Formats: sequence, C-alpha cells, structure tokens
Amino acid sequence: MADNAITETIHIDGEWRTAAAGGTRDILDPADATVLAVVAEGGAADADAAVAAARRAFDTGPWPRTPVAERAALLRRVAELLQRDREEIALLESRDTGKTLEEGRVDVDDVTAAFRYFADLVTGTTGRVVDAGSPDVHSVVVHEPVGVCAMITPWNYPLLQASWKVAPALAAGNTFVIKPSEITPMSTVRLLGLLAEAGLPAGVANLVTGAGDPVGARLSEHPDVDLVSFTGGLLSGVKVAQAAAVTVKKVALELGGKNPNVVFADACATEEGFDLAVDQALNAAFIHSGQVCSAGARLIVEESVRERFVTELADRARRIRLGRGTEKGVECGPLVSAEQLAKVEAYVASALAEGAVLRCGGERPEPSAVRPAGGWFYSPTVLDRCHRDMRVVREETFGPLLTVETFPDGDEDAAVALANDTEYGLAGGVFSADTARARRVASRLRHGTVWINDYHPYLPQAEWGGFGRSGTGRELGPHGLAEYQETKHVYENLRPEPVRWFAG
Ligand code: NAD
Repeated sequence: MADNAITETIHIDGEWRTAAAGGTRDILDPADATVLAVVAEGGAADADAAVAAARRAFDTGPWPRTPVAERAALLRRVAELLQRDREEIALLESRDTGKTLEEGRVDVDDVTAAFRYFADLVTGTTGRVVDAGSPDVHSVVVHEPVGVCAMITPWNYPLLQASWKVAPALAAGNTFVIKPSEITPMSTVRLLGLLAEAGLPAGVANLVTGAGDPVGARLSEHPDVDLVSFTGGLLSGVKVAQAAAVTVKKVALELGGKNPNVVFADACATEEGFDLAVDQALNAAFIHSGQVCSAGARLIVEESVRERFVTELADRARRIRLGRGTEKGVECGPLVSAEQLAKVEAYVASALAEGAVLRCGGERPEPSAVRPAGGWFYSPTVLDRCHRDMRVVREETFGPLLTVETFPDGDEDAAVALANDTEYGLAGGVFSADTARARRVASRLRHGTVWINDYHPYLPQAEWGGFGRSGTGRELGPHGLAEYQETKHVYENLRPEPVRWFAG
C-alpha cells in the first residue's frame, strides 16, 4: 500500500485498491475521537471481486498443491516478520483499539505463536491408512483444504482473531477473503502486507475493508465461498449462519460470552489466597476495559466472604489508571467507540434501576494529562447485590462492568447453577483452595474454557470456543486446523472384479 494513499486498503489478487464505488471511512482514535486514518469503505462489488480472486487462486493457483513443508515455512516467515515489526504493529493496534501498548505487544507475541503453532501442527499431520479387511484394498483417509474461506472479525482483538483464522487456513492450503471490523481494520491491513512480503502467491489472501452489511453479509451468502468463519456478537453471528445456510457452507462461529468467575470462601482463607482471588477478579473483569469475549464479568462469590472481597475489589478497581493506551503507566484504555460507551452507560442505569448497588465507578472519569476530554473513557465499575434476572447479569455488556452475585455458604450446587445460568458458554473461572472441589466444579461448568485459580490465559495448542450460544466449532489446537480441512476417504481396489450385483 502506498504511504500517501491510505484509502488503498482493499487487497485483491495481490494488488492494493480503493473501493470500487469510491467510498471511504474515517478510523477514529478512541482516546480522543480524532481521525487516525482514512480507509476504503468496500461494498458488495469489492467482496465479489475478492471472492473471484480467491476462487481462481484455489482452483488454478499453486497454494493448495504446495507441499506442506513449504506452507509451514511461509507461516514461520510471517512469524519472523511479525516479530521484526512488533513495536510498530503493537502501536497500530493500541491506537486503533485503545488498548495499552503493552497489551498490543502481548497480542503480537500471541499472534506470532499462533503462526508458529500451526506451522508445526500441519507439518506433523498426515492422512491415515485404514484397515479395509483385505490385502487387495488400499484405503486411506486424507485431509484437503476446504476451499475459499471468508473470515469476519471483531474490533476487540483485531489481529489476534484474524490470526486464529488466517494461520490454520493457510496451513491447510485454503485461499481466503478477510473482512476486519470496520472500526479497527489497521492491523489486518498490515498483516496482509506481511503475508505478501513472506511470499504468499497473489490471490491467496484477500482483504475487503467495509461494513458488516454489505461486505460481511455478501461474503456469508456468496455461492463461491466454501466456509465462513465468524467472530463477533451473537446477533451478527445468527445472521451469518442464516445467510450461509442457503449454500450449505461450513460455518464456524465464535460469539460472545457472559462469563462467571466463581470464588469460594476457602480461596480467601489465607492473605495470599485472598490477594490472588481479588487480583484475578480484577484481571478477569477489567483488562482491555472489559472488552473481552471471555471477560469474567459475573463475580459469583460465597456469601460469607462477599463484603470483604467486594470492598477490597472496589478499592483496587478505583485505583486502575485509565488513559490513552500509549501513555506510560496507563493500565486501561478507553472504550472503542462512542456507541460502546453509550451502551455501557445504559447497562449501568438499568442495573441501578433494578436495584444493584454501585460500589465504584459508574461514571466517565475526569479528563487528565493522559486522558483527553474527547476520549471514550469509563471508570471500572463494580455493581453489588446483583441477581440473575437483571439485564446487566444476563447480557454481554462488553465494558468495564463487574456484577456481584452470591451463593449460600457451602452450597457448591448453587454456585454451579448460577455459573451455568446463561445462554452463553464461553469461559469461566473457579477459585478454591480445595483442589478436589475446584476440579469438581470445573467439570460441571458448561463453558468452553475453564480456569482454575487463574483467569484469561490460553494456549495455541488448546482449543478455544463456546458451548451454547457462544458459538459452534473451535479455534486453535488440532480442532482449529481441522475446521479448515475437508476429510476424504480414498478406497483403491488393487484387484478389481465385477461385483455382479445386477445379474443382467
Ligand atoms: P459484531 O458482531 O458487531 O461485528 C463483528 C464482525 O461482524 C464485524 O466485522 C462486523 O462488520 C461484522 N458483521 C456485522 N454484521 C454482519 C452481518 N450481518 N453479516 C456479516 N458480518 C457482519 O461484533 P463486534 O462488536 O465487532 O465484536 C464484539 C463481539 O465479538 C462480542 O460479542 C464478543 O464477545 C465477540 N468476540 C468473541 C470472541 C470469541 O473468541 N468467542 C472473540 C472476540 C470477540
């Protein structure tokens, strides 16, 4: 992409382009609402052109037939380029999303790890010979790329969510069209540049910047797309699945969560245990200002420790340093958009109207040297005395809001029932000093990831995804590669004879 033409953010068949209809969109800095960049606002025609390029590259290009070792080598080159440009990409991600620079760096490292992981994983995968019960039959099951993949990603972890799709899709030999969130496209634009630099053939990786409807909607319904992998909100995910159903595409959905963090009193019996559980409850709820699909936004704490726990939690939440993510010492950035800020404020208002007790936050902080007046900042907020019927407890708020519910002392069943009382099922935490109890509760939670005495870590080697309405399919791990592979059985008769099923 030419430096002086930043509206060329659409990448099709190896070329950077402006939108076919000439549209542009301002990308705003969440810390002060100024314009960071102007990008192409693509439409359905751009989506069609990108799919056509990906289709050609799949049907006639070299990539699907490139030896696995070469595909893996390309992924490793991408990993090296990501590390070479780590600071620059971390800064881009921080400015685009509002997250801290340090979080941006962690994201780049995680993205690098994903590329390396899938390079290693695909290198080790082979088909398998099946015992057909006859020496005259050679029967093998092999894995082949699915074809043209559409990838639609959200704004909270733009590069990370892209990498969980791009790395396995390329490893498996697919071609793709990616549509990043219209709010935060910059790091994905950068990633496409790195893929080209690493030597990916033209047409394999295509990018259309633009809105969910029309670009994402067109990709989801397009007859030449074989698979759509979507990460985002529940309502958009349902629309994607409906559009994709018409052509029976493969569909993978990574949707929202309303994630419980269950704290037993025994976890707080020692000072160290108490400190750990409070610290992790903060980490669970407030990192990236709560704009995390797996945020532990529902604290479910044993009644006898509630008051002490919530007092300490609110005390520490008040001290979280809010500001522009690139400023030194800042621990939490702004919300991503004015809409997101308004949504969070509406949730707090509804919670208070429904009887929740505000323990801290519940307001926009005063501007400061690190917090410009125009930024979309919201103070970390703890809402005590919540119950399962409140909107703020049931719906994904995607902001720095932590609700507190309690379960009766010693009542493990009640804790589990509360933690599972959600239409979602993405992630959850359990804090207990009793290993048997912690494992027992973890095994009963209907969530795709459960942390015991920790919150948020994930591994590229381990599957990520949701139960219930948190989605279908899995990313990362062997399953995350399998999403991008078709499975084929080849049955070869080495001594063919007529079967004479039909006598005539
Ligand atoms: P969103 O649903 O508004 O948008 C996600 C993407 O879908 C964007 O690129 C958007 O343009 C596109 N889109 C919107 N409408 C569409 C349509 N009709 N057809 C096709 N595409 C469409 O979500 P968001 O606000 O960007 O992201 C936040 C959501 O993402 C939260 O719900 C969060 O929990 C979820 N999320 C889930 C995971 C996970 O791993 N499960 C990870 C990150 C975020």
